[in-house]
Amino acid sequence: MKDKHIRQVVIVGGGTAGWMTAAALAALLPGLYSYRLIESDAISTIGVGEATIPSIRNFNLHLGIDENDFLRATQGTFKLGIEFVNWGKLGHNYIHGFGSVGRDQPTANFFHYWLKMQQMGHATSLEPYAINTVAARLGKFSRGRPDLPNSPLADMSYAFHFDAGLYARYLRSYSEARGVRRTEGRIVGTALRASDGFIEAVVMENGERIAGDFFIDCSGMAGLLIEQALHTGYEDWSHWLPCDRAIAVPCESHGPMPALTRATAHAAGWQWRIPLQHRTGNGHVFSSRFMQAGAAEEILMANLDGKPLAAPRLLTFTTGKRRKFWNRNCVAIGLAGGFMEPLESTSIHLVKTALMRLISFFPDRAFEQADIDTFNRLCDKEYEQIRDFLICHYKVSGRDDSDFWRYVRDMAVPETLQRKLDLFASRGRIVRENEELFPEDSWLQVMHGQGMRPRSYNPVVDQRAPEDIADFLNSTAAVIRKCVDAMPGHEAFIAAHCRAGVKQAA
Ligand code: FAD
Repeated sequence: MKDKHIRQVVIVGGGTAGWMTAAALAALLPGLYSYRLIESDAISTIGVGEATIPSIRNFNLHLGIDENDFLRATQGTFKLGIEFVNWGKLGHNYIHGFGSVGRDQPTANFFHYWLKMQQMGHATSLEPYAINTVAARLGKFSRGRPDLPNSPLADMSYAFHFDAGLYARYLRSYSEARGVRRTEGRIVGTALRASDGFIEAVVMENGERIAGDFFIDCSGMAGLLIEQALHTGYEDWSHWLPCDRAIAVPCESHGPMPALTRATAHAAGWQWRIPLQHRTGNGHVFSSRFMQAGAAEEILMANLDGKPLAAPRLLTFTTGKRRKFWNRNCVAIGLAGGFMEPLESTSIHLVKTALMRLISFFPDRAFEQADIDTFNRLCDKEYEQIRDFLICHYKVSGRDDSDFWRYVRDMAVPETLQRKLDLFASRGRIVRENEELFPEDSWLQVMHGQGMRPRSYNPVVDQRAPEDIADFLNSTAAVIRKCVDAMPGHEAFIAAHCRAGVKQAA
């Protein structure tokens, strides 16, 4: 049989997406294929992807990356969730913690028991029932304790904050050690095969032609191959997610280092605060339809915890995604594929899932269209589900103090989201559909945190007497509090396990 295997894979771009791609392919598909990554020192990476969600731990696991080693190399910290300040209304805040809220029962989710008691006037806050939230509020952190299978500590759900530039450097060493060949230089052209428009080669500024069978476009928002060469098209979602600019600036750290990303809502967007070991990352994401860049920069600079460490940098984006992530012999991963604002830190996760999906649909030179279509359909669905979750943050906010907040309150939302909102508004039910990324408790914390209150609860909880439910709630909160009290502080945990520049004994 004629050998149809891909031989040369060319990865274009050396940002987070490019080096994650190189690392994953070199580690998980070694031997058969050769990998070449092209990046230009003259074209900077976006460099602000600093907060993640728990799935990154799976990525590390697949690649055999030691968590402490990776955190030391990237000045990383732990993340238990996101604190949303001024989102539901001014002066109000809540935490979307990873992990669960309470203990679900075989008949109904924990929330319904809480809701019944709340409607009877006996329960005020959901926070004491979520271990990540309680720990984050108290500045504590612990990894999971599988040796305590019946404890809320058994499976702590957490992610990381890290310096994106250091992360790319870390993955570069990892990839080069596994045979990935790096080429520095600017790509100035692309050669397409006349018969079918497949990419044959990229052309470098120095005239070199780098040929390949399969191209992974990680060139960032420019979409050098997927858009500039293949004209794939882009679906613009900015009518639902109107933020289209960000101003980023690092500053000195000040005060205790929380195991939390903070997202503070402003008049036409929101500001992130990401604690790292050596500094704090900040940025103001805003809508240029509702605020000028100068005003956005002023707000950002007035709301830093410490002295700025660099000049603020303006970034421009359009929320949305490519019409096809995979077109002919080119797959777009990272910003080349699409971008949604970093409100729930989903971009690096999307790089990871695209890579795992690509590996399971890895082609040969026949490039079967059924594989390509399925890959695209699955990516589309994943993007749309995350999009709905992000829109939800804006749509259900109780704020109406600026044109921006009034616009997002009044806008029509995708039908898929409207169905979720209607379902929750009636009886507090949430359904996680088709391997959706965010679980029920994520939706719950956000909808509840923004101020949505269902009209009623699942009637089956009436089977239990209110005193019995009160005991159940109290004991759940007490166990969580006891576990958290026994945890070390976040900074102490880092000092003991993964302080940057300190090599700990194994
Ligand atoms: P880039 O970082 O832009 O890299 C592009 C690469 O392509 C570079 O190496 C460049 O040299 C190369 N290149 C481009 N053109 C050429 C050429 N002609 N020749 C040769 N090389 C070329 N994600 C998260 O998960 N969490 C976050 O907290 C988060 N925050 C963000 C905040 C903002 C404001 C933005 C805009 C994004 C954020 N992201 C976040 C997204 C995250 O930054 C990106 O998903 C991630 O960095 C991947 O970027 P990339 O590698 O696709 O592109």
